[in-house]
Amino acid sequence: MTKKQITKDFISFLSDSPTQFQAVETMRRILDNNNFTQLEEQDSWKLKKNGSYYCIRGGSAIVAFKMGKNSQPSIGIRMVGAHTDSPGLKIKSKPETRFKDYLSLGVEVYGSPILSTWFDRDLSIAGRVTYSTSRKKLATALIDFRDPIAKIPNLAIHLTQNRNEKVPINAQTELPPIILQEKKGKTDFKGLLKKQLKKFSPKLSVNEILGTDLWLYDVQKPAQVGLNGEFITGARLDNLLSCFAGVSSLVESKNKSTAILVCNDNEEVGSNSFTGAAGPFLASVLERLYPDKEEYHRLISNSILISADNGHGIHPNYRSLHDDNHGPILNQGPIIKINANQRYATNSETGAFFRNVCQQAKVPVQDFINRSDLACGTTIGPLTATALGIKTLDIGVAQFAMHSIRE
Ligand code: ZN
Repeated sequence: MTKKQITKDFISFLSDSPTQFQAVETMRRILDNNNFTQLEEQDSWKLKKNGSYYCIRGGSAIVAFKMGKNSQPSIGIRMVGAHTDSPGLKIKSKPETRFKDYLSLGVEVYGSPILSTWFDRDLSIAGRVTYSTSRKKLATALIDFRDPIAKIPNLAIHLTQNRNEKVPINAQTELPPIILQEKKGKTDFKGLLKKQLKKFSPKLSVNEILGTDLWLYDVQKPAQVGLNGEFITGARLDNLLSCFAGVSSLVESKNKSTAILVCNDNEEVGSNSFTGAAGPFLASVLERLYPDKEEYHRLISNSILISADNGHGIHPNYRSLHDDNHGPILNQGPIIKINANQRYATNSETGAFFRNVCQQAKVPVQDFINRSDLACGTTIGPLTATALGIKTLDIGVAQFAMHSIRE
């Protein structure tokens, strides 16, 4: 596939995935188009040699795999891990806040977004809702308003003396987006959700909305910028870029060994959840692939996991914030992330494994180690390595503006 086609596919992958729920749906579509079969966790699994499968948990985490031609424990499995969630603003369950004619929505901050970047953007709302049907059954549906229906306006420069200095932002009072102006406001948010579901999914019988997982997102489409279009800009590059790379390579893979992709939710908030990397989702799938304990442990000891997540490229305007020898450059190859305190899972052996793979594929590779006087981020790598006892390394693509609304 050409670089141009991959870029185009990635940009539509990003646009189709405003939240982790839509991201999993987008991956499901790609896998379905490539003859993968969905497995339900509650069913009994009958797996075929050479078969391609996927399993979704909680609508926001997915494990997809191709059973290898050779399932000998000595061959091991090849795994890639990433995360589906991105930092952002989540709408509260009773969000309506009124002042004069304005209707605003209360939000919680999810993870660590750069809050100042959320002001003055044209925002929409997406995620999922759980509702009761006319027959009093429960059902869940994805929802996406698509249009720019919300805005968090900045305060005018004239009304504050220090607007261009870094001032803390109060999440309770300064972030609720305005979504409507109406006299004698009666609009309730759940009513709006019901209307939206009716518009885009007219076949659903929605009685009452009983639960929501909804996020604000920027409607501006991702784009290529730079005189030669050399940079991709958009929301959620961290970490949908790695999800996209993972699912594309799984679809293409023709390995003798079993190949697995895991994309967890909730990495941005520490991974402790039933869809997160600190939970048992991946382990439970692996145990069902290899029910024989002896075989399972032999297999894990011969396997390797690549934890893929974006890293920080050295920023020309803030170059002193990088270690001189370990500041990666955008578009100059994937980075191996190393941290002595195991914030990244790479060690000399797993790092060398990746360097060797890159040399064989004639792909340049870079190193990232944080400045020794700065705290280091982390990934699903160390958590998955701890849970499974599997050799792991952390790699990723270098980017600017991590956790901005437009990275
Ligand atoms: Zn990330």
